[in-house]
Amino acid sequence: MFGILIAGWGKNAKEVAYLGVLKCDNCKNHSHFSLYEVANKVTVYFIPVARFNKKNIIGCSICECGWEIDETSKQQLLRENMGTPSKEIFISIWDEISDEINERLYGKDDSSIDLESVIEEISTKLKRTYTGRHVETVMMRFLGCAMDTDKPE
Ligand SMILES: [Zn+2]
Repeated sequence: MFGILIAGWGKNAKEVAYLGVLKCDNCKNHSHFSLYEVANKVTVYFIPVARFNKKNIIGCSICECGWEIDETSKQQLLRENMGTPSKEIFISIWDEISDEINERLYGKDDSSIDLESVIEEISTKLKRTYTGRHVETVMMRFLGCAMDTDKPE
């Protein structure tokens, strides 16, 4: 997905941006990802005085594996990530999509469902409450997750 796998980065990590739900290449879960800054600290009398060896890491919240990216990729990622809401909003949109889909599809057989218009309907409804770009981003990730057949063991 992103590059080189790094394990054991978690301790000194500072969360820079929430990236929403993404598929993890390592554990195969769809989990919350964030961009972290990890640096080694020089401490004098317990007060950190310098940070060196700074790394940008994209980390999976389930298996705590991370992928290092360079500064250019980080800037690009942050630009692409503008449509991703905060974690709280991401989760509440995700839950509402899930409820709406269950409500509309429960007990119906697949052939009678026009999934595209169901999605359209739900998006329109949620956009009355949430920012349009946020709804679109979460909906895309939700569908990616729902349609993924390569599940964790
Ligand atoms: Zn993972």
